[in-house]
Amino acid sequence: MKRIVILGTGGTIAGQARSAADNTGYVAGTIGVADLIAAVPPLAAFPIDAEQVAQIDSKDMTFAVWRALAQRLAHHLAREEVAGIVVTHGTDTLEETAYFLHRVLAPTRPVVLTAAMRPAGALAADGPQNLLDAVRLASSQEARGVLVCMAGTIHAGCEVRKAHPYRVNAFDSGDAGPLAYIEEGALRRLRDWPHGEALGLAHVPHDDWPRVDIVLNHAGADGALVDALCALGARGIVAAGTGNGTLGAPLEAALLRAQAGGVAVLRTSRTARGRVIDTPGAVLPGAGVLTPVQARIELMLRLM
Ligand code: ASP
Repeated sequence: MKRIVILGTGGTIAGQARSAADNTGYVAGTIGVADLIAAVPPLAAFPIDAEQVAQIDSKDMTFAVWRALAQRLAHHLAREEVAGIVVTHGTDTLEETAYFLHRVLAPTRPVVLTAAMRPAGALAADGPQNLLDAVRLASSQEARGVLVCMAGTIHAGCEVRKAHPYRVNAFDSGDAGPLAYIEEGALRRLRDWPHGEALGLAHVPHDDWPRVDIVLNHAGADGALVDALCALGARGIVAAGTGNGTLGAPLEAALLRAQAGGVAVLRTSRTARGRVIDTPGAVLPGAGVLTPVQARIELMLRLM
């Protein structure tokens, strides 16, 4: 049996509350990855290597953690004896980490991100089942790519997004829908595993990541934030437009000024699903199916 690597980064899955009935007032990222594994007895059947890469609430995710995580993943993916890798993560920025890893590593073996919506000691904690499902998925010979396994549902890392702040089934994949389900360890696959071309670790700098910000179109939006970001040295701006990436006239004018001054601009939609369909003659490029946070990562990677 090939080995499974579990990399811990923190999150609610490693969180602790004062009371078992408290699902929101807890501290994320306190229990070590070895203890998370020990709390799931069926994992004893798997040959597991565990490593603590970070111990944070994922709302505080940093470029340094992303880089360290990508490096550890690349290291373990180069080991012939490893079947797949699981990353325990917070749910808040899981979709960003998943998209980043998809673009940088595009692995041909499974890299499975998993998380929990309830802290480890909750009355009905979801983390242990999610971790077991993720390990089973990582050991499957058919799975590949950056995947997210939560609540028995498997999403592609390039499509997933957090869609609910409280429910255990908090993730979806927009219009694309889930890739597969995992039921008592058995995979029920609906679509092809994700694939892509890896940009590679050399693409990820130690520091000096380009500043890319997101601005939102809304009633009364003006261009003041865009001008301020340009003054701060932003190298890219993602516009989370209304509907089909539409922008109020003053905001659009400010973004056109920014683009003319050398700032890279991408237009996305603030709606939860669908894509931005470029209209003929559109001067600010649309980001297609990418959500605003995915487009921000895409733009950073392009600028690096
Ligand atoms: N704030 C937590 C985190 O993202 C939420 C969670 O994991 O569900 O780390």
